[in-house]
Amino acid sequence: MKNTAIYPGTFDPVTNGHLDIIKRAARMFDTVIVAVLNNNAKTPLFSVAARRAQIKAAVKDIANVKVDSFDGLLADYMKRKNVSVAIRGLRAVSDLEYEFQIANTNRSLNPAMETVFLMPSAKYTYLTSTIVREVYCHGGRLKDSVPPHVERGLIEFYKKRRP
Ligand code: ADP
Repeated sequence: MKNTAIYPGTFDPVTNGHLDIIKRAARMFDTVIVAVLNNNAKTPLFSVAARRAQIKAAVKDIANVKVDSFDGLLADYMKRKNVSVAIRGLRAVSDLEYEFQIANTNRSLNPAMETVFLMPSAKYTYLTSTIVREVYCHGGRLKDSVPPHVERGLIEFYKKRRP
């Protein structure tokens, strides 16, 4: 599929940094598929179905963005989808080393695959799903970090867990 890109990630939960990247990618490609990784190595806060629903609601006004999920290797999922471009976000130099490892590994697994790196707006440089989870877990709130429906989900999730 020409002019289609896949943006893979854990998105646990989707943040405004991810959405910034999705919006940029949607201006560059005819179709962007946001692909939620069902990662057995991590124990996610939100189920794949919940994460997909959160992303879907956040991108409902962007016509060329679709939401999907996958298990296993990204390189294999991209072959199955017949898509050659993967999008990754680069926040800072600290992301580079890890992202290079992934991109090179993916290239050796699937030589047709290209990884395109996009930079978010500077205000999202320090935003990660991990930091968002940490703050909400302890009852805090982080301004301009996640869409309102995701914030409600986080507050509800942690409320249920507290005695
Ligand atoms: P992973 O668990 O695979 O790192 P994430 O869901 O955390 O996946 O992130 C998916 C992609 O989005 C990665 O390329 C990551 O670098 C990027 N990303 C995460 N947070 C931000 C942010 N605040 N701004 C831009 N890109 C981001």
